[in-house]
Amino acid sequence: MLSIDLSGKKGLVLGVANQRSIAWAIAEILYEAGAELAFGYFGERLRPSLEKLTKNMNNPLLLEADVTNDEENTAMFEVLEKEFGVLDFVIHSVAFTPKSTFEKPFHKVTKEEWNITMEASAYSLVAVANKAMPLMKNGGSITTLSYLAAERVVPYYNMMAVAKSALEASMRYLAYEFGEKNIRVNAISAGALRTLSARSISGFGTLYSKGGDLSMFKRNITQKEVAGMALTLVSDRLGSGITGETIYVDAGYQAMGMFIEEIESRL
Ligand code: NAD
Repeated sequence: MLSIDLSGKKGLVLGVANQRSIAWAIAEILYEAGAELAFGYFGERLRPSLEKLTKNMNNPLLLEADVTNDEENTAMFEVLEKEFGVLDFVIHSVAFTPKSTFEKPFHKVTKEEWNITMEASAYSLVAVANKAMPLMKNGGSITTLSYLAAERVVPYYNMMAVAKSALEASMRYLAYEFGEKNIRVNAISAGALRTLSARSISGFGTLYSKGGDLSMFKRNITQKEVAGMALTLVSDRLGSGITGETIYVDAGYQAMGMFIEEIESRL
């Protein structure tokens, strides 16, 4: 019988804000498979909810870090090196843009909004990968979270779409450079999910319901479905051949070329 056993594997999960966070669903399945987890959280105010969520886990490491802050990022990895020695995987489920970028046309983006978004949502992967790589002495897996707007126009997504394009390109360059070290780097492009970050996207309600209705499954995906793919990518047994890849977990939405309700209703 095939079992996915991550016992003995140690990893860092970035981006748990609450129980709806994609990172939380991923952490749950990785823990269930036996992995030892550290959580990087952004700001002391998130600590109580993280403590509550992880209370039944065995010795989770909770580390505060703004991953765009070099000093905090370095300090987090110093603790990881001390406590874990080696690192086997990183889940990067981090993004931020000022709400204002969703509320006006893309061409009105300011330099400040551009820089903040790129730093938090794309550069952060590179900063984290750079620190994680030396600890991945036995190879490893780095997984980030992206969205279809990296490749196609999704109205309102604006600046975050540009950051997701940069994120996916960065993922490919990291995968290339880390390949010989047997470190896989991939992105999961998830369909719309109701999370804290999603709430600030203008028109998210429409984007969510249309994304579900027009998908091949005629439904939205769940955080657990994204987590299933993350488990595959983390597992050496299942994911060893995959790197430099953006994998869609979106109920088939991205593969649709045209939406014709009349024809569909006759099928
Ligand atoms: P979320 O709000 O639960 O998670 C975002 C996390 O990013 C939060 O935990 C936040 O604290 C963290 N973060 C932001 N800036 C940070 C920084 N400087 N340092 C450290 N952490 C920081 O929302 P989510 O939807 O679970 O988002 C996770 C990832 O999934 C994001 O990259 C998002 O773009 C992506 N994604 C979300 C959807 C969706 O519909 N929700 C779809 C596709 C991809």
